[in-house]
Amino acid sequence: MVQLRCPYCGDAFEARPNVADIQKCCGKKRCKAKRKADAQAHWVSKNPDYFKGEYRRTRLWLAEHPGYQRRYRAKNPDYVRKDNAARRWRRIQARRRADIQDAWPRREIERIQGVQGADIQDTYRLRLDGLLCALAGSPAPICKTRSLVPGLGG
Ligand SMILES: [Zn+2]
Repeated sequence: MVQLRCPYCGDAFEARPNVADIQKCCGKKRCKAKRKADAQAHWVSKNPDYFKGEYRRTRLWLAEHPGYQRRYRAKNPDYVRKDNAARRWRRIQARRRADIQDAWPRREIERIQGVQGADIQDTYRLRLDGLLCALAGSPAPICKTRSLVPGLGG
């Protein structure tokens, strides 16, 4: 039995006999994941151009093989299920990011809507005023826009 020391956790371990001469770390999941990440980073650093232009190559290949994706998806319903779930998840995440970006102006609009005397006819004008003030960094509506309908407010 070959005794080795894991470079990630520092523990001693017995190398598996069939790979003892090339085994790099112990069998713990965390150590194997670190070793894999290190190996991958090392490989990418040695092959910096490998992943560049990948999308263009893929598009060219797909153009030469029309219907490939449709046939692949028809044959692999499990893949389609996972792919659709992943796409749904990415869309939810993108929407969530957009919501966070919109939250501050929305709070400002709600604050403006709470101003006394703001009737329904003024709501849109106040929203615009609120947005302008929010963008200008003013805590109170100091700028006013004219009503879009002649004779209403202004
Ligand atoms: Zn380890």
